[in-house]
Amino acid sequence: AKEEQASDICVSFFGAGYVGLVSSVCLADYCKKVYCLDTDKEKISRLRNLEVPIYEPLLEEKLRRNYESRRLIFLSEDFELAVRESHIVFIAVGTPSRRGDGHADLSYVFSVAESIAEMLPSGYTLIVIKSTVPIGTCSKVQELIKAKTKSSKVQFDVVSNPEFLRQGSAVDNFLHPDRVVIGGCGPMKSLSRTLMETLYSPFVKDKETLLFTSWEEAEMIKYASNAFLATKIQFTNEIADFCQLVNANISVVTRAIGLDERIGHHYLQPGPGFGGSCLPKDIRALVRSAQEYNYSMRLLESVIEGNEVRKRRIAQWIASLASESCIEEDLGTFLHGHHTTHTTTVNIYGKKFGILGLTFKANTDDLRDSPAIFVVQELLSLGARVSVYDPQVKAESVTKYFAAFQGFPLDICDDSYTACQEAEVIAILTEWEEFRDLDWNRLHEVVSRHVIVDTRNLLEPDVISDKGFRYYSVGRPPYF
Ligand code: NAD
Repeated sequence: AKEEQASDICVSFFGAGYVGLVSSVCLADYCKKVYCLDTDKEKISRLRNLEVPIYEPLLEEKLRRNYESRRLIFLSEDFELAVRESHIVFIAVGTPSRRGDGHADLSYVFSVAESIAEMLPSGYTLIVIKSTVPIGTCSKVQELIKAKTKSSKVQFDVVSNPEFLRQGSAVDNFLHPDRVVIGGCGPMKSLSRTLMETLYSPFVKDKETLLFTSWEEAEMIKYASNAFLATKIQFTNEIADFCQLVNANISVVTRAIGLDERIGHHYLQPGPGFGGSCLPKDIRALVRSAQEYNYSMRLLESVIEGNEVRKRRIAQWIASLASESCIEEDLGTFLHGHHTTHTTTVNIYGKKFGILGLTFKANTDDLRDSPAIFVVQELLSLGARVSVYDPQVKAESVTKYFAAFQGFPLDICDDSYTACQEAEVIAILTEWEEFRDLDWNRLHEVVSRHVIVDTRNLLEPDVISDKGFRYYSVGRPPYF
C-alpha cells in the first residue's frame, strides 16, 4: 500500500546500538509504530526499564515519552511479529573490522538479512541497510534475500540509507540532517522511493537535502565522508606538530585557514589521533576494499599509518614528561628527536599519571578505538601507575579494554582530583567541558609535580601557567 504520511508507517530496526536506538527513538516521534529489535536480551530488558544503555544528550527523555505512549516497542525475540507489521525494516547492526585484515565484518548484516528473508510476509516490504557497509553489499543482500524467500507473494526492495549521525549530538543530527542519502530506489515514483520520502519528510525541510543515488554511490558516500574527516584530522595533526618545531601556534593557523570557505573550520582541531567506532574501521575497510580491485589508496593508507604512529608518540611524549630531563620538550621537539625509535628512553616505572578523559571524544560514553585507551595501555606497559577520571566512564565499562592488564596499577576514579592525587603528570585526553573549570589551586595541592599535557588544546595556556603548572599542548608553544 502506498503510505501518505510518516504517521501511517510502521518500522523495525534490527540492532539497538548507537544508530538503531537513536534512529528508532527519533522516528517514533512521527511514525505509527517503531520496533527496536536486538538479540542482546540484557540491553532490551534495560531499555524496557527505561535505562538508556548509551550516553547521548536528549535521548532519554524522547525514549521515555515514546515508550510510554507505546509507539516504541523493544523486543529481544519474536522478531517475526515486528517484521510482519512493518512497511520498512532497517538493518542497523555492527560492521566491525574483521580481525587481522581490516575488512568490514559483514557476518551480522548477512545473518540479519537471512532471518528477515525467512520472516517476510506476503506483500511488499522495504529493507533498508543503515549499517556502514562496503561497496557491493546491498547487491549481495538483495541476492541473499531473493534466494531465501519462499513464497512468490513476497515482494521486497533493498535500499541503502547510510547514517551520518555524530556521537555526542546524535539526536540533534538525526532530527536536523545535513543530508539524507538513499541509494538504489530506482525510478521517481517507485514504491521504495515514495516510502523513504514519506518517512523522512518530517526531518527534511529542503528537497536538496534528500539525495537519491545508486546503491554503490550511497555506500561510497558514507566511506568517503569518513575517510575525508579522518584525513582532515591527520592533516591538522601534521601541521600542528610542525608548528611546534617552528614556534608557530596551530590555533592561529587553523583559525586563519578555516576562514577560507573552501576549507571551513570543522575538523581542524589537533589532538591525540582520531578514534571511535567509525573513522578507524571505516577508513581501513575502504582501503581494503580498494585493494580487492588492485587499487591502492595511497593517501588513505598513509592517514591510517600516520594515526597509529601518532597515538604511540603521544603516549611516549606524555611518558617522557614524567622525567625532569625531558621537561623542556614540547611535542614537536619530541617527535623530531624520536622519529626513528618506537620506545621511550624514559623510565617511568612506578610513576603516577593522572588521566582526564577516556572516551574518544566528549559527550559520549563510547570507548571503542579511543586514543585515550591506547595511551593508558602504553603507560601501563611501561610500568606506570595510572588513575583515570572520565565523567561518563565507570570502572565496569573499561574492564574489557584492559583484560590484558589485570593486576596492573590502574584506578578508575570518581573525580578529577582523586585521579590526579600524587600525579607526576596530568594528561587531558578527552575534551570534556568540565575539565575547563577545574579548581586549579586544589589540583596544584594534590599533584606531586606540576605538569599538564593537554592533548586537546582545551585550556587557556596563560591561565594554567599562572596557576603554577608547566603546560604542554599540541601545536602551541609550551607555557611555563
Ligand atoms: P553497536 O555495536 O552499538 O550496535 C549494534 C547492535 O546490533 C548491538 O546492540 C547488537 O547486539 C545488535 N545485533 C547484533 N546482531 C543482531 C541481530 N542478529 N539481530 C538484532 N540485533 C543484533 O553499533 P552502532 O555503533 O550502532 O553501529 C551500527 C552500524 O552503523 C555500523 O555499521 C556502524 O559503522 C554504523 N554507524 C555508526 C555510527 C556511530 O556513530 N556509532 C554512525 C554512523 C554509522
